[in-house]
Amino acid sequence: MIWALIGASTIASQYMVDALRAQPAGTVRWIISGTAVRAAEFAAAHDIPYSDTHLAAALDDPAVQAVYISSTNDRHMDQALGAIAAGKHVLCEKPLALTAKDAAQIVAAAEAAGVVFATNHHLRCAGSHQAVRALIHAGRIGRVLSLRIHHAVHLPENLQGWRINSAASGGGVVPDITVHDADVARFLLGEDPQSVVAQVTSSGLGQGVEDSAMSVWAMPSGAMVMSHESFTHPFAGSGLEVHGTEGSIFARGVMTQQPVGEIEMVTAKGREVVRFEAHNLYQFGVARFCDAVAGRGGVAASGWDGVKSLAVAEAVRQAAATGAQVSVGYGVAP
Ligand code: NDP
Repeated sequence: MIWALIGASTIASQYMVDALRAQPAGTVRWIISGTAVRAAEFAAAHDIPYSDTHLAAALDDPAVQAVYISSTNDRHMDQALGAIAAGKHVLCEKPLALTAKDAAQIVAAAEAAGVVFATNHHLRCAGSHQAVRALIHAGRIGRVLSLRIHHAVHLPENLQGWRINSAASGGGVVPDITVHDADVARFLLGEDPQSVVAQVTSSGLGQGVEDSAMSVWAMPSGAMVMSHESFTHPFAGSGLEVHGTEGSIFARGVMTQQPVGEIEMVTAKGREVVRFEAHNLYQFGVARFCDAVAGRGGVAASGWDGVKSLAVAEAVRQAAATGAQVSVGYGVAP
């Protein structure tokens, strides 16, 4: 697969360039950035042959088959629509856009154009999350009563830019982390949150955007989800707990970009360590994307998955702003 990168970002630099190149014939041909200096520096640092500030330069290149979009959140929509119009397959970072309505427009455009479109929700690509899901779906903990997601972390200093001070760029912990947690809940439980109540605050980092959020989601099955995200918690650790009528699953240190963590299941029979495959999360997602382009199966997280995770995040913000319980609006999402 021959790729163009749209966005000279940290995630591309730290994880995705390697993940794209890890696939058979995985080639990164272009880097597109908003500034020429950054584009050239990124190209040199990662040995990418072509760089430019104009998206069209990469989209007009017939050798480019797919684009990976990891610019600031406000730019995803125009860039994705441009790539789709050029007939390129698209792997887009979350949140897909600033609103679920805009995200749905992107995904509908991709469907109409017949290109593969995926959302880079990496957590469902983790062996740990896949193991928890398998236990739930095999009925090992009975009927699920509740899910608690602990995702309050410390935002690294090098990322303390637009995420904490620019609502216009799509900053704030809700579009950054709550979207991931919404995808985790949907992936693990196999159902979509119906309504939410929430509070958000700025606890030290956020300037004009929230840096911490706590919310409770009602699922169609009657299960409850409790979700906590923050940029300001250096020592909290991360994890999730799933509690069912026949058992509980404790997954510690699994809300991360690394294939790490520990899982334990507790039932009437006692405690059991759950083993899982420690594969690279991003390589897993890219492999599924490449397979989908080749006509072999579906992507790990679809465009509609990205629309739905953003719809939940939007509802969380609205619930926090109004103090009301908010129904999640999925629009035309199937
Ligand atoms: P960065 O802040 O590193 O990059 C985002 C954009 O900001 C870049 O495209 C670049 O614009 C600009 N930028 C970056 N560094 C600088 C700098 N030093 N000076 C000036 N401009 C700069 O963000 P992330 O890599 O953390 O996030 C990018 C996207 O990826 C977001 O949508 C985020 O939500 C998502 N993400 C997803 C993750 C996942 O696991 N799925 C993990 C982390 C992020 P330009 O391209 O114009 O140069």
